[in-house]
Amino acid sequence: MSETVHVYAGECTTTYTASDDAGDEPTRRRGRVVVVHKPDGTVLVHDAAGYQPVAWLTRANAVHREVDGDGGFALVAVKERERLRVESRGQAHRGSHAATPAGVEVGTCPDCDGTLVRARGTITCLDCPAEYGLPRDAATLDETCDCGLPRMAVDRGARFELCVDRNCEDLDAAVRDRFDRQWSCPDCGGDLRVLRERTLFLGCENYPDCEATYALPDREVVGACDCGLPRVRAEDDGGGSPGDADTRCLDPDCRQTDGGEAEEAPS
Ligand SMILES: [Zn+2]
Ligand SMILES: [Zn+2]
Ligand SMILES: [Zn+2]
Ligand SMILES: [Zn+2]
Repeated sequence: MSETVHVYAGECTTTYTASDDAGDEPTRRRGRVVVVHKPDGTVLVHDAAGYQPVAWLTRANAVHREVDGDGGFALVAVKERERLRVESRGQAHRGSHAATPAGVEVGTCPDCDGTLVRARGTITCLDCPAEYGLPRDAATLDETCDCGLPRMAVDRGARFELCVDRNCEDLDAAVRDRFDRQWSCPDCGGDLRVLRERTLFLGCENYPDCEATYALPDREVVGACDCGLPRVRAEDDGGGSPGDADTRCLDPDCRQTDGGEAEEAPS
């Protein structure tokens, strides 16, 4: 979805103060500059050299803009104790431009034929409000779903390939179908359920009597441990058919690793 970036250019006085203490001298600069005011409240003042602004305020709490009748402008950005003021001396150029996140192209929007890009964990259409949040570790694929959106791959104990739209194909439902009640709780023997709070995880069905929880494996499951939990491929597994040496219990502290003798549980 596009938002508006405001741009100003002209001879300006820029005043930056880091504190409201009277003792703190403001930094004052004058020159021909280009001022960029982004929709998240970031204000950047650029002069003729370098990539770095000569003055800036990132994600200001408030930005106040004024335009006078003679083509001049004043802009004040405030963030806690920081304050940035830019005031034009005489006429200035002003422009407002549509802007979107810029990212890697991943497909075409089925709603409007606009270009879809992936930036900051979200797939965004450049031409309409369509937006799809991705799991942090999702890889977007070249494949297109029947609905027209790109597909993605996510590892949750196995590789799941799904539409990027949860309403089209739901990752939670797919993982639940595959792994709900597949393993048992090492503490009480109950079934482990696939649950979600902020992320998907395995939790004992006997909650709250048993509070055992485990992160869902972020790699391929290759069997079950004697303790009840899944065994997964070890970190540096180069591939090939997995033997016990290449795999480990989901619980790194499990005492039944490497197919060794199970320790006697206290009766
Ligand atoms: Zn669109
Ligand atoms: Zn789809
Ligand atoms: Zn349990
Ligand atoms: Zn184990």
